[in-house]
Amino acid sequence: MSIYLPTELRLQLEQADDHCCAYCQTLQANSGQRLVPDHIVPESQGGQRIFENLCFACRLCNEYKGAKTTGIDPQTGETTALFHPRQQNWTDHFAWEENGSRIIGLTAVGRATITTLNMNNDVIVPARQRWVTAGWHPPKS
Ligand SMILES: [Zn+2]
Repeated sequence: MSIYLPTELRLQLEQADDHCCAYCQTLQANSGQRLVPDHIVPESQGGQRIFENLCFACRLCNEYKGAKTTGIDPQTGETTALFHPRQQNWTDHFAWEENGSRIIGLTAVGRATITTLNMNNDVIVPARQRWVTAGWHPPKS
């Protein structure tokens, strides 16, 4: 879904997310698709269109996330909050597998977010392997 953002807010978000998906860290330049603004808490659940509730996401993460704010931790089967890019640090909840192609969940939040947003899907993993070979990935570790 395309939403309108005032220029100042868009620039603030671009700076914060450094042209990467705030969830799977895919660089816009690698994906070849413009990142989309994501409401961390959806507007339908009272989430506001303010910096503290917005991040940039790739289209796949945005699509899989939809209006969800929770997911199931596959390790415990328990429902947990999804990763909140403005309140939590990516590296506290996620890490890259040694070869850089898959994301590992370090916490219940990380694991539930990976599963819910399908962050290691069968399209992105081979693409990441190519980016690693080319030296373009991972953007953060
Ligand atoms: Zn993503």
